[in-house]
Amino acid sequence: MSVTHLWAPWRLEFIKGNPPQGCVFCTLPAANDDRESLIVHRGKTCFVILNKFPYNNGHLMVVPFEHTNVFQNLTPEVLTEIQTLSQLCLRVLSERYQPQGFNLGMNLGEAAGAGIKGHLHQHIVPRWTGDTNFMPVLAETRCLPQHLLACYDDLVPLFQKATPQ
Ligand SMILES: [Zn+2]
Repeated sequence: MSVTHLWAPWRLEFIKGNPPQGCVFCTLPAANDDRESLIVHRGKTCFVILNKFPYNNGHLMVVPFEHTNVFQNLTPEVLTEIQTLSQLCLRVLSERYQPQGFNLGMNLGEAAGAGIKGHLHQHIVPRWTGDTNFMPVLAETRCLPQHLLACYDDLVPLFQKATPQ
């Protein structure tokens, strides 16, 4: 506990609050403000969250609570819930937005385009004919007309109504 350490520049940077080193998929569920965090549904081992940088309106992600990026180490329980929650997402999105198709999948690792590479997540992207013909399918670069919170408020009641099997 020396004075020197209190004034160390790296310490100042830390206090000034640069982006937290913690993983966003770990900190958001722990924050317990699901609307602010855009968490639309919580399962047992995984949760469902709206993508803040969506590719399309209603772009959801299914994320294990456990911090991991090693798909091959996921337990059968987590694997199963990723898929049952993905089914639930498709039901809810179909009911609310009537998309004409979906992209479902994971970008594992930076080379594959993972935005948050330390914590794997499954994308569920509703698609409409003609919504794009040149962008990489799971790239997260588009801006949306509909505000994310409006989308959140649209979807949450549907998630509450539905139940994963
Ligand atoms: Zn994490």
